[in-house]
Parts: sequence; structure tokens; C-alpha cells
Amino acid sequence: MKIAVLPGDGIGTEIVAEAVKVLRALGLKFEMEEALVGGTAYDAHGHPLPQSTLKLAQQADAILFGAVGDWKYDQLDRPLRPEQAILGLRKNLGLFANFRPAICYEQLVGASSLKPELVSGLDILIIRELTGDIYFGQPRGRRSAPDGAFAGAEEAFDTMRYTRPEIERIAHVAFQAARKRTKKVTSVDKANVLETFQLWKDVVTEVHAQYPDVELQHMYVDNAAMQLVKAPKSFDVIVTGNMFGDILSDEASMLTGSIGMLPSASLNSDNRGLYEPSHGSAPDIAGKGVANPLATILSAAMMLRFSLNQAEAADRIEAAVKKVLAQGLRTPDIYGEGTTRVGTREMGEAVVRALE
Ligand code: NAD
Repeated sequence: MKIAVLPGDGIGTEIVAEAVKVLRALGLKFEMEEALVGGTAYDAHGHPLPQSTLKLAQQADAILFGAVGDWKYDQLDRPLRPEQAILGLRKNLGLFANFRPAICYEQLVGASSLKPELVSGLDILIIRELTGDIYFGQPRGRRSAPDGAFAGAEEAFDTMRYTRPEIERIAHVAFQAARKRTKKVTSVDKANVLETFQLWKDVVTEVHAQYPDVELQHMYVDNAAMQLVKAPKSFDVIVTGNMFGDILSDEASMLTGSIGMLPSASLNSDNRGLYEPSHGSAPDIAGKGVANPLATILSAAMMLRFSLNQAEAADRIEAAVKKVLAQGLRTPDIYGEGTTRVGTREMGEAVVRALE
């Protein structure tokens, strides 16, 4: 089994180092090879996704990714900015299905921004389509407005689009995931206003006919945003497009206490995938040794389960994370009175010990 390890920028290097320690402590046979990505790759090779890094990612069975980005690269042309590396990997590897579980651990109920009774026991899975929608649709650009009340003024435009096969494959992913859970899917759209999401709704409904054992509910995105803070436990699997998923999954992350707890997986049709924490490179805390490594460690567990066929090892990591939380260990983002404040390295090492 070969894992490409791409730590990236900012806290990426600190948190990935801890996840690698945890993987090594499992005693399984992995080959792990590290490469530069993002701003650090731009500094060394003049490109955020150098050919050598892309080749490694293409050859590996799975990719463990930290985070990319730093404000110091904001002046670069868009194709050279660190964030383009992650878009390039998604596109090149066909990573169309993004899994973002939002689980509220019992010990962290108090760290959520919602009342304990709303989030206690929360376990939802957001499945976001990752390679289509307005983020990739052409044409896009800036021009002089050709018509309308402001004809001649500078305007910018993007194109929202989805094809039937793109919607079909993500719908299948969602219904199959729901079968392993409580068999309920909420498809989030904006079919009342957007043609793209009327097609989305029609196709999801058609695919649903193949999964009669799974309950399907349709919900407009504005209502979904509201329900996520009103009654988050009413959801199980949420499936939605790229942009709505981007926004709703960050909203859901705050229900769980900290974005530093949330793993993610981005899979292609062969179940090969890229695994990364849901957060970014956090330049504000980079180098201070305080970043929470648990989202990355839990991403490594998802990698074992989805791409490397090592479900038992994944269970061991998840149990170890629960154990360190039960021991009261907390990085500053999840710290509360009566718990013990630890740094990135201490948290990683505690997880390694808890594996035993
Ligand atoms: P961010 O997720 O990096 O940080 C948001 C806030 O959460 C910050 O206050 C940060 O300190 C905190 N935070 C994030 N991860 C944490 C952790 N593990 N432990 C404790 N606290 C944590 O988002 P941002 O500040 O909007 O973006 C910073 C950079 O990251 C930008 O350049 C952005 O483009 C990039 N980014 C990259 C990815 C990715 O690599 N997939 C995703 C999102 C943002």
C-alpha cells in the first residue's frame, strides 16, 4: 500500500506529522512518500502542484493531505496560488465525491455553539459533489455588460452547470452510503429558482427508484441552512452540489465544537481518494504548536477504511481519539474548564499511546 503524504503549508506540516506517527504506530506495512504541495511547492518549484507531486498522487493508493494557502501568496496570478493545487488534484484524479462527517463527540458537547440537547449524539454525513457546479462551469470571466440597465459597465460572471451523469453518480454514492447508516437521504437543491438544480432534483428522484429501502427528502438550500442550526439531528446523509455543499459543510462543522475535529474524504469512482482535514492552513496559528491534529488523524482513519481496506485499523484510531478526549486532553480550540490543555505534538502522542 502506497500513501502519498502531502503536508502543504501553515499548520499542514504540524498536523500531518502527527497523523503519520499514528499510522506508523499501527504496525501495518505502508510505503509513505512525502512531496511538496501548495505555497511551499511554489517556493521550491514555481508551481503549487508540480508534475512530480501530481505523479506521486496518481501512483499512490491514497493521499494524505494537510492544507494549503497563506496570505502571502494572495498577490500571485490565480493559477499559481496554493489553493489551485487542491483543485488540480481533484480534477486530475476525478475526485468527485466529498464525504464530510459531522460528529459531535460526547466530551465536546459543551464546545458547540448550539445548546447541548441539539447536538448531543449528532452524527451526520454531508456528501458534496466536488468536480462540477459553478466552481468549474465555463464560460466565466469579466467583461463589459452586453445589455441590461448597466450595459457597458464592468461585470463578472460564472456558469452553474451539471450534467445528468454527474448527478447520477453522486446520487448513487449518497444512497449507498445511507444504506450503511439510517437509510435517510436529504437532497439539497434550489430547484425553485435554478434550472441546474431542477435537473438535480429530477435525476436524484429517478436514481432513488433503485433504492426503495432508503427514504429520500428534498430540501431547498436556504431551509437546509436553517434546519442545520434548528434541528441538526433530523438529518442523516445530506447530498448536494459543490457550492451548497461547501457552505453547508462548514456550517455543520461548527455544530461539532471545532473545525479542528472534522475529517474529510474525496473519492473517485475506484474508491481511491484524498483525505484531509476540513479546515485550511490556519496561518494565524501556524508554527505555534497549538493546532488540533485530530481532524487529520481522523482523516487517516477514513483513508484506512475507504481506500486501503483496513477497517479494523480505522476503528482503532477512532477509539483512540475518543479515549484521549475522555482523558480530558484538549488543544486550545476545544479547551474548556476542567480539561487539560495540550499542544499539537502532545495530542498526537497521546493518540499513539491510546492505540495500545
Ligand atoms: P482556516 O480553516 O485555515 O482557519 C479558520 C480558523 O480556524 C482560524 O482561526 C484557524 O486558526 C482555526 N483553525 C483551523 N484549523 C484549526 C486546527 N486544526 N486547530 C485549531 N484551530 C484551527 O481558514 P482560513 O483562515 O479562511 O484560511 C486560511 C488559508 O487556508 C487560506 O489561504 C485558505 O485559502 C486556505 N484553505 C485551504 C484549504 C485546503 O487546503 N483544503 C481549505 C480551506 C482554506
